[in-house]
Amino acid sequence: MNTDHFFIHDRVPSRVECGNRECVRGGYNLIEILDPLIRARIEEKEGHVACRGYEKIGVGTRSCVMMATYKVKIKYKQSEG
Ligand SMILES: [Zn+2]
Repeated sequence: MNTDHFFIHDRVPSRVECGNRECVRGGYNLIEILDPLIRARIEEKEGHVACRGYEKIGVGTRSCVMMATYKVKIKYKQSEG
């Protein structure tokens, strides 16, 4: 199951909730995805990111299996002059 999120320039939230209702402490950290891209000046990138949360199963837990597909386009300001 894929979850697509679209954000406009500076309105990127740092975190997106996991779609799994049973998921505990799940979600996706967008800053973690974007930060290396911005450092490397990458303009377009598609990829997958796994949820870091877990589900409670009886007395134990198991890792959340949710994945999100992301597609980012970053526009960098040209330095003028
Ligand atoms: Zn999750």
